Amino acid sequence: MQNHDRNPFEIAQIQLELAAKTLKLESHVHEALRWPMRELHLSFPVRMDNGKVQMFKGFRVQYNASRGPCKGGIRFHPEETIDTVRALAAWMTWKTALLDLPLGGSKGGVICDPKKLSQTELERISRAYICCIAQSVGSHQDCPAPDVYTNPQIMAWMVDEYSKIKGYQDPGMITGKPIAIGGSLGRGDATARGAVYTAREAAKAIGLNTHKATVAVQGYGNAGYFAAQLSQDILGAKIIAVSDSQGGIINPEGLDPDKVQQHKEKKGSVVGFPGAKPITNEKLLELEVDILYPSALENVITKENAPRVKAKIVAEAANGPTTPEADDILYKKRVFVIPDFLCNAGGVTVSYFEMVQNMYNYYWDLETVHKRLEEKMVKAFYSVMEAAKKYKVNNRVAAYLVAVNRVVEAMRLRGWV
Ligand code: NAD
Repeated sequence: MQNHDRNPFEIAQIQLELAAKTLKLESHVHEALRWPMRELHLSFPVRMDNGKVQMFKGFRVQYNASRGPCKGGIRFHPEETIDTVRALAAWMTWKTALLDLPLGGSKGGVICDPKKLSQTELERISRAYICCIAQSVGSHQDCPAPDVYTNPQIMAWMVDEYSKIKGYQDPGMITGKPIAIGGSLGRGDATARGAVYTAREAAKAIGLNTHKATVAVQGYGNAGYFAAQLSQDILGAKIIAVSDSQGGIINPEGLDPDKVQQHKEKKGSVVGFPGAKPITNEKLLELEVDILYPSALENVITKENAPRVKAKIVAEAANGPTTPEADDILYKKRVFVIPDFLCNAGGVTVSYFEMVQNMYNYYWDLETVHKRLEEKMVKAFYSVMEAAKKYKVNNRVAAYLVAVNRVVEAMRLRGWV
């Protein structure tokens, strides 16, 4: 699912190793953190619209549950691999710890191409997948959520299937649900909102006036579209380029994020947006902008193109967009990188809020959600800044140091290590 020169789990392990060295973790503690606690490998039949049965493969990886029930999204993607899911489950572990949520980390995926499936086929796949993992998930065990190519409707089918299997309702077993069946207000744009809050703090750290800032966004999906819209609304920034899997568009005078979104809804892509010129996904990453949001897939900033990245702030809305070699290059170039598991933690934070609201069956207004999200994001941002200063490391290593320390503390208290 990526441009890989390296598999994402190897990258996750390399990143952990840097933190383990700095924290001088004993080798058995490091080893306990290097591998998922539990993996489910699934193979399940689904009847397609043509009447034939097709087999699908899927995964659920529960990486570490020392700080609480696992939490992590489900991806539907034709090139999903166990290593991508493992890496994402590890990153969820660090992300929930960094945001100080009482949760562990997990991730799931089904190898399928939603673009080639009808709604009824998608529904049957969603129900079949949850049926396979039902005994291992729940609000006190492991709580899935939407991720690439999954959405609130899919979560609704899954929570419905789960309640049929269990014979009772447990709305907190999955988050990102539609509001009418227990979703939280503010979940839709939470990932991007969190990313924009961290970009705002990063701008303060480097003395950048966001009202004059220019922005490029790679990947105009849930994270990318809202990152563009909220950068305009909250930061007062100008969006000059955006892209999706078909290609990109650029207009130095500025793009209207909502109009681009309407165009994408109508035409299936941002490409061809009136008044904008085409740009490739590769060139978009190298634009001279103040803030770049990689918001699509993994490994897009590599040692090859990192020397040409000119953004002042790279706000990683996507998971794993920068390889470790590229990280070093960006750090030396003094690019301010907001690492993925800090930058895109708004989604899981509001997902956690959704679980909390489901558990006490009382729902918050939007203002409360935004206020609590902002508090969590800002606190996590400054915990990373402090660690970066104290240990003289880049922001990603600093974020690892904060998160890994918290996970290790929980594992020690439980007597696991
Ligand atoms: P999405 O499916 O809504 O959007 C993905 C977008 O990326 C689409 O516009 C797609 O066309 C585009 N894309 C796909 N391949 C591309 C390519 N090769 N080049 C450029 N664009 C490409 O997914 P999303 O939920 O926005 O997730 C995007 C990233 O953000 C992922 O890394 C995901 O793990 C991460 N993330 C999302 C959330 C969330 O709440 N949605 C939370 C945390 C992290």
